[in-house]
Amino acid sequence: MQYLQQRQEVLQAAREIYEAQLVSGTWGNVSVKVPDQSLLLITPSGMDYDSMGIEDIALLDWEQKLVEGQFKPSVETPLHLEIYKKRPDIKAIVHVHSLYATAFAVARQNIPVILEETAQIIGHEIRVTSYAPCGSKQLVENTMKALGKDRKAVLLANHGLIGMGANMAEALKVCYIADKTAQIAIYARTLGPLHSLRADDIEHLQHNFKQYGQKK
Ligand code: 13P
Ligand code: ZN
Repeated sequence: MQYLQQRQEVLQAAREIYEAQLVSGTWGNVSVKVPDQSLLLITPSGMDYDSMGIEDIALLDWEQKLVEGQFKPSVETPLHLEIYKKRPDIKAIVHVHSLYATAFAVARQNIPVILEETAQIIGHEIRVTSYAPCGSKQLVENTMKALGKDRKAVLLANHGLIGMGANMAEALKVCYIADKTAQIAIYARTLGPLHSLRADDIEHLQHNFKQYGQKK
């Protein structure tokens, strides 16, 4: 079996989204691009997170051909693949059905940049796609349109959230912050109108965040 470390990373992230209740049942999916090759590792379709093992993660080539694994890969494989093809900066993708982000996806409203963390980690409002069913070609097309050239998260109408990054830690963080932003937006709206951060404040926060934390 190849890419043990990356398989472990996908499995760990999949278990994490389940334990953090960003998904329930077998919904959601996680993938990573395998370094230096046109291959990806993705969670199997409709499998319980509790019983999933590293050998169950599907290794696929760029044409979606199964290279290693015995189970059908996620129904959203074409969407993950298209993102990796069009966005070389993206190396990991996490798709969740988290409660608060999905509330925005149902209301068909973009999640605004209302928190400093949203500005620092995501840096843009999170757009909602036009509706298309899960696993469809139309969903791939709509998502790519909403994602554009540099966005890290998109809401799938009446469905959920997709977050991505240069590594798995970033893709997970994007999902956590997107859902937290949606939750605070819903609470804050009960108190009065929302105040989003301005574009220059977002830029400043993003710039300063590069120096945040301890030197490596
Ligand atoms: P899979 O179990 O096939 O990954 O599908 C779950 C899902 O969330 C589809 O959007
Ligand atoms: Zn889904």
